[in-house]
Amino acid sequence: DLYGAERRNSAGIDLADPVATAALADRMAAAAAARATAAPLVGGRPVDGATRSVVSPADNSVVVGHVADATAETVDAAIARATRAGPDWDTIAAAERAAILDRAADLYEADGPRLMALIVREGGRTVPDALSELREAVDFLRYYAARARSDFAVRRLPGPTGERNELRLAARGTFACISPWNFPLAIFTGQVAAALAAGNAVLAKPAEQTPLVGAAAIALLHRAGVPGDVLQFLPGDGATVGARLVADPRVSGIAFTGSTDTARAINRVLADRPGPIAPFIAETGGQNALIVDSSALPEQVVQDVLTSAFNSAGQRCSALRVLFVQADAADRTLTMLKGAMAELRIGDPALLSTDIGPVIDGEAQAMLQRHAQRMRREGRVVIEMQAPPGTERGSFFAPAAYEIDALDRLEGEVFGPILHVVRWQAGRLDQVIDAIRATGYGLTLGVHSRIDETVRQVISRVGVGNVYVNRNMVGAVVGVQPFGGEGLSGTGPKAGGPHYLPRFATERTLSVDT
Ligand code: GLU
Repeated sequence: DLYGAERRNSAGIDLADPVATAALADRMAAAAAARATAAPLVGGRPVDGATRSVVSPADNSVVVGHVADATAETVDAAIARATRAGPDWDTIAAAERAAILDRAADLYEADGPRLMALIVREGGRTVPDALSELREAVDFLRYYAARARSDFAVRRLPGPTGERNELRLAARGTFACISPWNFPLAIFTGQVAAALAAGNAVLAKPAEQTPLVGAAAIALLHRAGVPGDVLQFLPGDGATVGARLVADPRVSGIAFTGSTDTARAINRVLADRPGPIAPFIAETGGQNALIVDSSALPEQVVQDVLTSAFNSAGQRCSALRVLFVQADAADRTLTMLKGAMAELRIGDPALLSTDIGPVIDGEAQAMLQRHAQRMRREGRVVIEMQAPPGTERGSFFAPAAYEIDALDRLEGEVFGPILHVVRWQAGRLDQVIDAIRATGYGLTLGVHSRIDETVRQVISRVGVGNVYVNRNMVGAVVGVQPFGGEGLSGTGPKAGGPHYLPRFATERTLSVDT
């Protein structure tokens, strides 16, 4: 059926079960001891080159592995091979491609602890985050496999007698998939799986910070049966690899997740290049708000604020950035929030007890420090936590919250564990909604209220892709909460939703006189 209700999501591992958790820890530790490497793969073969070391964001003295980045010539060779291989991959039955993706999902699950260890070590993500990410990646593989089976069926359309009319989807050709470091496995895999499911050859570019996770994922996809020529792997930076892929007229479509600024830059290049008018699927940032009125349950609000603003060190595009709390509930809520934040454990992401790991690198850390300085001048400190001793060797930024008088104090998305708080007066809900709309972003939004009319008013007036009522705002589940925004937050279609695959395809109508 269209929404895939018969499909099951990955069950993962129960982190509350000590036996399962101990076994996981053993397997993760064994995997962490192995040296990880990544190199460009062209036609399935590694391309040698100068390597750079990849260090752990939790401790820059720990080398997680080495990567050889793709050069301009390698990118060119990969595009040439992908362009030749695309048509054959499109010609095999969608069900056959789906079977390969299902096999890849099984391999991901079997190799889960190793993938998780890499996510923790290279991406600085906590163990629970790494586990959710593994599950999400597996879900993307199985979901797009299931969608491909139905989306690529030939549809017979009604017409006059003596004529046969059919509509079907076909691949675009060659897709570049450009993914971010904050979900080095799940978003990387989701883009690639969708493009492959739709019959495209793929040029996969992992984020510069997380090539090792990308390389591990590609190896499993190849082992599952994706031909080397159909899936090329191109680690490197945006200027050398990303910009070349986007500018090349042989690349017939782009899937991108990252910043709004980069999405604009890609759009400009696409507008000016020769070759096909390429579809551009962009998932970008947000200025995500949570509106809390005085009817909301404070304990639940505080719990959901912690999860939404600070889990994953705030490095989710869905994360809460601005808490709008009704003035008469504000002091009480902020007092409880400060108490709850003081309990957060900051430190080594490999420890199961850690709530907040590092931010991705020194650049991200410096950006957050600059923003905090500005907030100290222009706003009021609610709380600034301190990273514990031992975290100096990594790029840590301890969670903080600042009160500001209005949302327009913020210039754009601040990607990290900083929460902004704005008080609103009873009867002024409209102004809050207008302020949120005025940002131009439209990714996630939360409402906490026990008044149906308030909830209804918010839902009907905001322009955001994912609205969450009386719960946290992160961790959209594949096939259950299709994810993606509008406006400055992206083009759609939603990842993990029923309309995603067709955007990686083109439609063909066939009319035959019989
Ligand atoms: N899908 C993720 C979530 O719901 C966010 C993805 C992202 O940060 O790009 O939290």
